[in-house]
Amino acid sequence: MQSVAFIGLGAIGRPIARRIAVAGFPLAVWNRTSVRAAAFALEHKARQAKTPGDAVKDADVVVTCLSTSADVEQVIDTALLSELKPGSAFLDCTSGDPATSRRIAEKLAANKIGFIDAPVSGGVKGAEEGTLTVMCGGAAKDLDRVRPVIEAFGKKIVHCGPVGAGDAVKAMNQALLALTIWGTGEALVALSKSGVSAQVALEVINASSGRSNASMNLFPERVLNRAFPRTFRLALLDKDARIAAQIARDERVPAPLTQLAADLCTLARQQLGEEADHVEAVKVIEQWAGAEIR
Ligand code: NDP
Repeated sequence: MQSVAFIGLGAIGRPIARRIAVAGFPLAVWNRTSVRAAAFALEHKARQAKTPGDAVKDADVVVTCLSTSADVEQVIDTALLSELKPGSAFLDCTSGDPATSRRIAEKLAANKIGFIDAPVSGGVKGAEEGTLTVMCGGAAKDLDRVRPVIEAFGKKIVHCGPVGAGDAVKAMNQALLALTIWGTGEALVALSKSGVSAQVALEVINASSGRSNASMNLFPERVLNRAFPRTFRLALLDKDARIAAQIARDERVPAPLTQLAADLCTLARQQLGEEADHVEAVKVIEQWAGAEIR
């Protein structure tokens, strides 16, 4: 089996790495906050690397899952480039931006290392269950090479196009997610204030044409019970929606809704802070309205 190095044991990185370990790949892990890597290594019989370079030096496949493409590029430039094994493959599960991924791929290609951008969708639960959707950008031969590793955590694996295509699809998906959270939030705050129970409203919407992942899963499981679990930071959704708006601008596609999604995410992030969950954005609508979804 190919040996794997995993860098970035955050909220989604950790369960992805766990799936790779459980599938039996020899695994070395590194995380900036080292206690997280130590806990993971202890639990999964993985090797805790002392540095990012130490993690990747013998790896056939390197997997990264960091906050942004800029973080991935920084780690590559400062700690990885000279340590990666020529002929190895680099799989970046960060929800990244296409331009930075293309630049990273060029740097790696000069060292005979293939790059695949492979952002995921399906949340922490999907990662734990190995049912993530994985959208890939890069050469088919590089994807073939890393496919067995992706299959450890992904159920639907789609080759979207050249390097950056996976990032682009992911960013647009996230803009749609932001818009449906915000739109459903506005609808339910208004209905609650007018005296209609949000539960009753969702029963109707989820059997009608306004339904979405937000209405079918996020609001019933996180908002109605006021649980707001922190699984995916609003700051990261803001980053994603900004990437989507940038892609539309680069392509000269008028995209006011995508830009609005980005601006609303930024506004909510500024109000709620870096640790807030993405679904907590509805609290901003509630504050504006002076009414809670109930
Ligand atoms: P977290 O904020 O939980 O974790 C981020 C990870 O990146 C941590 O391991 C952090 O290290 C590391 N990191 C960040 N910056 C650097 C840096 N400059 N150098 C080294 N390490 C760094 O994020 P998630 O795990 O939630 O998300 C990771 C990626 O996956 C993001 O791009 C996100 O958009 C995407 N994603 C997340 C989903 C989710 O449900 N959470 C779902 C789908 C995609 P440290 O532990 O030291 O902070």
